[in-house]
Amino acid sequence: MSNAKSLEELEQKQDFIRRHIGPSPAQVSDMLSALEVSSVQELIDQTVPASIRLEQPLTVGQSRTEVETLSYLKSVASKNKVFKSYIGQGYHPTNVPHVILRNVLENPGWYTAYTPYQPEIAQGRLESLLNFQTMTLDLTGLDLASASLLDESTAAAEAMGLAKRVSKAKKANAFFIADDVHTQTIDVVTTRAEQFGFEIIVGKAEDAVNHDIFGALFQYPTTSGEVVDITDLIAGVQSKKAIACVAADIMSLLLLKAPGKLGADVVLGSAQRFGVPMGYGGPHAAFFATRDAYKRSLPGRIIGVSKDRLGNDALRMAMQTREQHIRRDKANSNICTAQVLLANMAAFYAVYHGPQGLKTIAQRIHRFADILASGLKAKGIALKHSTWFDTLTVVSDSKDDVIARAIAKGVNFATNLEGEYSISVSETTTRADITELFDIILGEGHGLSVDAIAADVEANGSESIPASLVRDDEVLTHPNFNSYHSETDILRYIKRLESKDLSLNHSMISLGSCTMKLNATAEMIPITWPEFANLHPFCPLDQAEGYQIMINELHDWLVNITGYDAVSLQPNSGAQGEYAGLIAIRKYHESRGDAHRNVCLIPSSAHGTNPASAQMASMKIVVVNCDKNGNVDMADLKAKAEEVSENLSCIMITYPSTHGVYEETIREICDIIHEHGGQVYMDGANMNAQVGVTSPGFIGSDVSHLNLHKTFCIPHGGGGPGVGPIGVKSHLAPFMPNHSVINVPGTNIGNGAVSAAPYGSAAILPISWAYITMMGSEGLKQATEMAIVNANYLTHELSKHFPILYRGRNNRVAHECIVDLRPLKELSGITEMDVAKRLQDYGFHSPTMSFPVAGTLMIEPTESESKGEIDRFIEAMVSIKGEIEKVISGEWSIENNPLVFAPHTQGDVLGNEWDRAYDRFYAAFPVPAVAKNKFWPTVTRIDDVYGDRNLVCSCPAVETYRD
Ligand SMILES: *Cc1c(COP(=O)(O)O)cnc(C)c1O
Repeated sequence: MSNAKSLEELEQKQDFIRRHIGPSPAQVSDMLSALEVSSVQELIDQTVPASIRLEQPLTVGQSRTEVETLSYLKSVASKNKVFKSYIGQGYHPTNVPHVILRNVLENPGWYTAYTPYQPEIAQGRLESLLNFQTMTLDLTGLDLASASLLDESTAAAEAMGLAKRVSKAKKANAFFIADDVHTQTIDVVTTRAEQFGFEIIVGKAEDAVNHDIFGALFQYPTTSGEVVDITDLIAGVQSKKAIACVAADIMSLLLLKAPGKLGADVVLGSAQRFGVPMGYGGPHAAFFATRDAYKRSLPGRIIGVSKDRLGNDALRMAMQTREQHIRRDKANSNICTAQVLLANMAAFYAVYHGPQGLKTIAQRIHRFADILASGLKAKGIALKHSTWFDTLTVVSDSKDDVIARAIAKGVNFATNLEGEYSISVSETTTRADITELFDIILGEGHGLSVDAIAADVEANGSESIPASLVRDDEVLTHPNFNSYHSETDILRYIKRLESKDLSLNHSMISLGSCTMKLNATAEMIPITWPEFANLHPFCPLDQAEGYQIMINELHDWLVNITGYDAVSLQPNSGAQGEYAGLIAIRKYHESRGDAHRNVCLIPSSAHGTNPASAQMASMKIVVVNCDKNGNVDMADLKAKAEEVSENLSCIMITYPSTHGVYEETIREICDIIHEHGGQVYMDGANMNAQVGVTSPGFIGSDVSHLNLHKTFCIPHGGGGPGVGPIGVKSHLAPFMPNHSVINVPGTNIGNGAVSAAPYGSAAILPISWAYITMMGSEGLKQATEMAIVNANYLTHELSKHFPILYRGRNNRVAHECIVDLRPLKELSGITEMDVAKRLQDYGFHSPTMSFPVAGTLMIEPTESESKGEIDRFIEAMVSIKGEIEKVISGEWSIENNPLVFAPHTQGDVLGNEWDRAYDRFYAAFPVPAVAKNKFWPTVTRIDDVYGDRNLVCSCPAVETYRD
């Protein structure tokens, strides 16, 4: 009996851990034998320097089963009170079309993909992102749009950065923000300006022209709801050679003249209310559009149309030479992870509803605002403005009573303005809701009939949108927005695009530094629970108790895991975490009278976001060399630290290094920096090699970001969302981001925000919470150990065929390895690009190419891949090596071989012409395993140069569809 019970318990305890970890116990022993060690422990002892090994186990609790975890989390979630939100201010309730909810947001085919760096196996999400850009262009009236930024407020901060780069008012150092811009946007832009050393002037919109500025930002409609003709404001700004930026509400743009048509240079905003839940603040996609003339200055990724080898239209990320991974500190921004999944949802929302459907939704929202206004005015209630789209602001001396009645009925208004409250109606508003609003504001027995007022509004029309601002041009005329309005059609369209993309539900994606591990279904389930999905980020705190409990638990676990003292969950990506961490360092130095400390040391192997973020914090970058083993060159580090000692702010260092080894000198590096009065920023992207085994705090660093979308199981979403929390030691804690609308406990009042919402992308935090809960202290440590076992096994097997660039102690690697393709390239002329593309024919996504070393592949299998899958990958690599050897031996010429023609599409191998040196079957099915699970790239190799020379960033013209 007791024996049976303990078996049961054992089975339960192992339940999730053994599902998350790919290799079975038998496979683990096979791998250990190959590595000639007798236990996992022995391998870890050989690999991880003893000096950094944690002495104490983690204390995040015992592993819990999926069932237990979800049942407990449900009880926590139910402590959230889901009120009807009329708060507005950039976040609105929306009806997520169910077909999009299930087939995109809840579908691993969409959410487990990576950023489309391998475009031949990513045409689906690239098409959807092109729809997002086309939608942005149509609605904003501008020429060029990006494929999503992190949120509206950071997009506004990026607009300021663009304005500074392109404005001809070169002497001006001030940026103007109208005082009726959303509060959180003023906050985030001010934080950014302070770091850049720009002056921020907040004032009445009309005052912009009275200042010496390089740019200005207006909100359209304003945060309190007014619809103002901004034509003259824009012209005034431009008369000063400054850049006019407009933050716009996406839904209003269906009825209002496009800001671009009113002359705006930049238009940005949130696409949240296009079918993405509010989620207590995020994640949502921001849109961003500007003039063609500023294309080299545009922040974030742009999807562009190019041609493939056979001349077919093919999509890929355009003009990457503007981005941080190429230009580092000269890049336009530090944006790496963006909001692809949410941009796709918003784009599908537009595809699903089409221009007429969207217009109807917008008109209905506007009609409700008219009805509400009409009733209130009839009862003598004073409205602040005479124009509106969806938001009415009431000037009231009985505000407190009204708010109390609203709360009693489970309704939230925006209350942060003195003596006023605002009501934003939305897609979800009904006639019954309007009656309820009358009851709340007027008290019951007001005698108003919504039906009667509606008839009246219908008969008399409305002047709440000024005639000069009524939109009269066609939008979304492209066939993609006019073809898929039945559920059958949209379902097939979503599926058609999904099928073009290789995601984790097809095969291993071994991208070094990106940690493409399992995103378990049980982790994903809570994010669409209404209790988490439907909260407004600025709702009263007592309505978000469930969120607070979950966030506090996650906070405490991350503190334990990182060895730091405090964590901020606000940053929306790793790069935003870097930026927040560097701000904390800068403010810390300032607080000690060390404002002059502004030099940031960065090893040459660093990820491109490191220098890009340091530049955003106005730091001076000094590069530290690496030695021939890939380690930081200690002599160079000492010399440079000595040289800049007086002005040393910090070092940014990745651990284990981007070269995939545990550097033995890491503690010494921390000591050297500290001796010179600097701080250590440890880039935590590689935490998957640390959790439970060592920690940044234990090693001696002061601050790190974590990529919850790498180590802690948030899926990559095809290029976002992400969460990049920072952990800090206590001396930096006072300098972490706060928020001007919702005070974040544990941070100082007055600290600026780095994201629009106080807890950033709160809605996806349950994913990491669930991962930690289900793994427990023991499981997390096992995950790290198995990541190391898998990486070392893979390295060992591949090293029989390829040189491995770097190794650490005892010839071991950490959780990833770098395969050097340069010697083969030298002999054969076959490039790393050819190998990456040929891997597609074998059904694999390429590992990280040419980072951190050109001509190499960096491979990270993670703990979630089984030995079987790793062996298939090795088989593909070995087979490819055989192909390269045939080129070297002359059996295949360098012009005619399966590598240079890779990837092969069905059209290519089934075409009538075939003059290749290899046969068709071999092109597509080079090893037997492929035939059983063939993934077909849908375009052949894409011509990047052609696409950048002929930049097209919206859906190709209708004509190209006719033939
Ligand atoms: C992924 C990564 C980053 C950037 O993180 P994002 O979330 O994409 O902004 C920074 N440093 C390293 C080493 C990384 O691998």
